[in-house]
Amino acid sequence: ATPTALLVGTGRGAQTGILIKGPEVLESTRKVDTIVLDKTGTVTTGRMSLVDAIAEQGTDRTDLLRLAGALEHSSEHPIAQAVAKGAAAEVGELPTPEDFANLEGKGVQGVVDGHAVVVGRESLLADWSQHLSSELVARKLAEEQAGRTVVVAGWDGAARGILVVADTVKPTSAQAISELKALGLTPVLLTGDNEAVARQIGAEVGIDKVIAEVLPKDKVDVVAGLQGEGKVVAMVGDGVNDAPALAQADLGLAMGTGTDVAIEASDITLVRGDLRSAGDAIRLSRKTLATIK
Ligand code: ADP
Ligand code: MG
Repeated sequence: ATPTALLVGTGRGAQTGILIKGPEVLESTRKVDTIVLDKTGTVTTGRMSLVDAIAEQGTDRTDLLRLAGALEHSSEHPIAQAVAKGAAAEVGELPTPEDFANLEGKGVQGVVDGHAVVVGRESLLADWSQHLSSELVARKLAEEQAGRTVVVAGWDGAARGILVVADTVKPTSAQAISELKALGLTPVLLTGDNEAVARQIGAEVGIDKVIAEVLPKDKVDVVAGLQGEGKVVAMVGDGVNDAPALAQADLGLAMGTGTDVAIEASDITLVRGDLRSAGDAIRLSRKTLATIK
């Protein structure tokens, strides 16, 4: 192996928007057989928008938008940004929360207009004994089966409504997945979102294996678990909460459109944020290795 050949390989990668951290990374690309893909921001655009807000009977829809929107305005999460933006567009200026806390991978809680408000996954509200009516449970399920993400809002001890948020699959994701399969890799979709949404997004892009409802801190355990089964794992992610999993993976690939923390934890950066570059990176690296053997 000559170091020159490795440099040529990494240099060519740079021209195509693929940054490889060092020549030692190439070797890892040869053995990988499984590729774990984060859903939001990696397979999907992560640019979400609020498409519906449905209040429980007896709750004013404007209050639902106002209280949930005010709380979400303080969160950076793509779901939160969509809710806050959609709410403000409909009800105007949102109040500033008197208190706010982010519950990583679960939702947000705080005080708005004197009400103790919580917005997040259904299980978070259930922990506080706030349950949706059977009508809204059914509506939530139907939206999720259509691939939309639904969060629940509650205040003063009861669930008050649901917020429906839509994210879109990136136009290149399906092609990217089929290219990864052609390279002999088994794709796995990993997300904190629920099973129904994950299955629908998986079906849209051609991923059969989905691992859903995984808390941010547990993503690293999923990668380690697959490694424990003897898999050699590549992971593609974009978020701060993907960083430990990207570092744990045998080959970590970060979307260049993602956070610095994810990029730092990775071996390869896909500058363009186009998932097709993942297959290109692996193919290019393997080819470079072949020329120097
Ligand atoms: P992903 O793994 O798809 O990037 P996260 O781990 O960030 O998603 O979040 C997992 C789930 O937690 C979301 O699908 C949502 O139900 C809930 N959640 C997280 N943050 C928020 C928030 N700010 N507002 C409402 N729900 C949230
Ligand atoms: Mg993400």
